[in-house]
Amino acid sequence: MASRSVSRCFNITTRNYSSKPDKNIAFLGLGNMGGFMAANLVKKGFNVRGYDPSKEALTAAAKDGVSGASSIAAAVDGVDVVVSILPSNKVVLDAYLGDDGVVKHAPKGSLLIDSSTVDPNVPKQIFPVASDSGVAFIDAPVSGGVMGAQNATLAFMVGGRKEDFDRSVPMLKAMGAKQFHCGASGAGQVAKLSNNMLMGITGMATAECMNMGIKMGLDPQVLLDVLNNSSARSWSTEVYCPVPGLVPTAPSSREYENGFKNELMVKDLELASSMALGIRSPIPLGAVATQLYRIVQSRGYGQKDFSFIYQLLKNEKK
Ligand code: NAD
Repeated sequence: MASRSVSRCFNITTRNYSSKPDKNIAFLGLGNMGGFMAANLVKKGFNVRGYDPSKEALTAAAKDGVSGASSIAAAVDGVDVVVSILPSNKVVLDAYLGDDGVVKHAPKGSLLIDSSTVDPNVPKQIFPVASDSGVAFIDAPVSGGVMGAQNATLAFMVGGRKEDFDRSVPMLKAMGAKQFHCGASGAGQVAKLSNNMLMGITGMATAECMNMGIKMGLDPQVLLDVLNNSSARSWSTEVYCPVPGLVPTAPSSREYENGFKNELMVKDLELASSMALGIRSPIPLGAVATQLYRIVQSRGYGQKDFSFIYQLLKNEKK
């Protein structure tokens, strides 16, 4: 069963950072999200040293002013802050707790910010080890996607100590528009997974009901106007309509490209499902959503935006 709170009490070496603002940052994971986030830190005047096993990612980041490092240990050497945004539970645990990892090599008094989307137990494992080593750690997953990363409009959901959250705000503001302190270590991931399960459920429900109305002969635009002015209105109907051509900025209107990939929705729903199972919280709709998005993926559309589920339902035979 997932533990609900960190039960031990840790002494952390806090430094007087108010007299020396954080300036030097190591950035781990320069992919679709991290590349833009690191570039935005550079734009706001931070010195950023990046590490990514992908040479292409390092080369692209260098064009945005991010200097390259050959390992995690080399990247975090002497920095004030480490920011990471990595693909999976295992990669995050290895990157932080491995022999060549962040916790062993980051300077005492530094602040570690992990923005990956992972199981809440991952930050709960890292937090005590980091604290015992004299470094601060917060989980700070993001919402807003690649566009939000590019335009520095991400929302950060933070778990960890309030003073560490306060210290992170200048960096989070350089990369995003909103920052929420959600509670103790792991709370940021709980908020993120709750948000994304609800987004997956409303997306699926919007696709299902619009498909039904359109198949009954309603004009798609009339149906959308009704929904957006009635009790079914949501982010999915207003911003992310799954029916192509009705909301010009929605991924459905550009062949379901450059949105939130279906495979990432599956990843987040699986993480949320496992979290729910750990506390035996019933998620009947979340479970159905997980299965439906998995079917989209197994039919070869994992790279499409998750609103592609509308096309799957539309093409079901009578
Ligand atoms: P991505 O695959 O584009 O980037 C991940 C990067 O991490 C890659 O460049 C990879 O080479 C690098 N990497 C792998 N192992 C590493 C290591 N040990 N050290 C340093 N770098 C390493 O993925 P992404 O879309 O940028 O997503 C990253 C995280 O952000 C995921 O947890 C994802 O769920 C989350 N997220 C993504 C989005 C989105 O829209 N893409 C939105 C919100 C949250």
